Amino acid sequence: MKALALLSGGLDSMLAARLIQEQGIEVIGVAFTSPFFGPDRARRAAEWLGIPLHVVDITEDLIPILVRPKYGYGRNMNPCIDCHALMVRKAGELMKELGASFIITGEVLGERPKSQNAAALRIVARDSGLEGYLLRPLSAKLLPPTVPEEKGWVDRERLLDIQGRSRKPQMALAEKYGLKDYPSPAGGCLLTDPGLSRRLKELLAENPVPEPRDLELLKYGRHFKSPEGAHIVVARQKEENEPLVALARPGDYLVRLKGLPGPRTLVRGAKNGADSLRLAAALTIRYSKARGLDRAAVLVEQVGRGGPRELSLERAEVADLIGRARPVGGEAAPAPTA
Ligand code: SF4
Repeated sequence: MKALALLSGGLDSMLAARLIQEQGIEVIGVAFTSPFFGPDRARRAAEWLGIPLHVVDITEDLIPILVRPKYGYGRNMNPCIDCHALMVRKAGELMKELGASFIITGEVLGERPKSQNAAALRIVARDSGLEGYLLRPLSAKLLPPTVPEEKGWVDRERLLDIQGRSRKPQMALAEKYGLKDYPSPAGGCLLTDPGLSRRLKELLAENPVPEPRDLELLKYGRHFKSPEGAHIVVARQKEENEPLVALARPGDYLVRLKGLPGPRTLVRGAKNGADSLRLAAALTIRYSKARGLDRAAVLVEQVGRGGPRELSLERAEVADLIGRARPVGGEAAPAPTA
């Protein structure tokens, strides 16, 4: 008998898997990745549980859900009910491949008012197509019996009846299992981040069929719009330069300071170019050590279309130009050149 556990890496999913292991059932883990969440926490959880972990990229399936979630968003752009159903459906496909007999999750009845109430748990089981084979060990005694319980694969009596937002029962259980180091419930998913959610909302309003790399770009840099509608992204720190350059598409422009270290800037959708590129140059200068210079130069190249050309700006022009940049998604407007 094998069970496949959805591992977010949070405490609940670790405890759910451990409860099933305690009944002598082999547990295998699955974690999901997308531009907004990754498997790092799940890897640590799998290590603690001593189980193998399968990692599945669900970005392509997540995009239509982000654009139009059947059950709406949470407080930010997190479509949790749809996302849970997708994850369970994907786990169901893997379950068959691995010869597992049922799925377990760390969902707790009533822990999250919108996405983990009784109706939401029913929807996830139904829409994933796994109804009857989806066991929530932490709240199982409060939910209708599943096939593994009815067939006696697991002993329902040894499952739990945790509900509500208090995490005390889980903390007591963690202590019982000697589990001291586990991540806080928040922080695993960027779709719950207000700043990123505002950027995502604006992106989807403009482009309802984004590519994965468009979503990836939301995680890096400061984002601005030029008056002509070009999207300008300025790296916030050295570590963002490389990913920003890697995410550029043919036709995008890349801007960097000439002869000085500083941020890389990506410009997308500069139609006739010149005004947006001068603005991108000004922002590149503004967010670098060159911002105090009387005159600074940048190099601009269009990806896939030839070598760099130079743009040189005076300090007063930089100050004037950056006043025309519209910050995207609640980004702080740049202060005038220091
Ligand atoms: S928090 Fe993020 S990863 Fe978790 S269910 Fe919601 S949208 Fe999906």
